[in-house]
Amino acid sequence: MTKQEFEKQYNVHLIPKAESRLMRAFGVFMLVVWAVTFMWLWRRDRKNLRDAFIDDYWTTYRLPFGVTKITYPKMVPDPMDDQQRDIREHELLHHIHQLEPWWGPLTAGLLVIVVPLPIIFSGRWYLERRPYLHNIVYHRYDIQSVVDSLWSGYMIPWPKGMMLSWFKKKEQEMIRDKVPNPFND
Ligand SMILES: [Zn+2]
Repeated sequence: MTKQEFEKQYNVHLIPKAESRLMRAFGVFMLVVWAVTFMWLWRRDRKNLRDAFIDDYWTTYRLPFGVTKITYPKMVPDPMDDQQRDIREHELLHHIHQLEPWWGPLTAGLLVIVVPLPIIFSGRWYLERRPYLHNIVYHRYDIQSVVDSLWSGYMIPWPKGMMLSWFKKKEQEMIRDKVPNPFND
């Protein structure tokens, strides 16, 4: 069978991969993913990822049919200390808005797991933006610093300019509407 006959019989095109624009674009994309992953790991090479995860970061999770667990890192001796208030409220917002409904663990898990690579437009942006907005409005977090740390710490979840303008717009709305901190007694 010739190439022409094969193509005709099965209604396909048989072409060299390097001549496919889509495949070449995908190759570049994979190179970017590889480079960003490498840079991200290298940034933290003084402390390996596992140790940094356990020692430095809070994580809130819930298994289906379980109770939400807010886990605090080694560097925090007392999670109820006043200095930890901003982070406690941040984690509580993950609990209230994302994990508490019965479907919460599934959707939150999907948003983290389905796009775990440093892919632009990752689901993590959706998980983190409300809790960070809260920190910006009520705990005077600097918008630019939040965007920078989302960019590097959460593996480029969303274009920087769009994160910046989303936070600025929502901050203005909350100030305008005088939304009180739901955690104030
Ligand atoms: Zn968070």
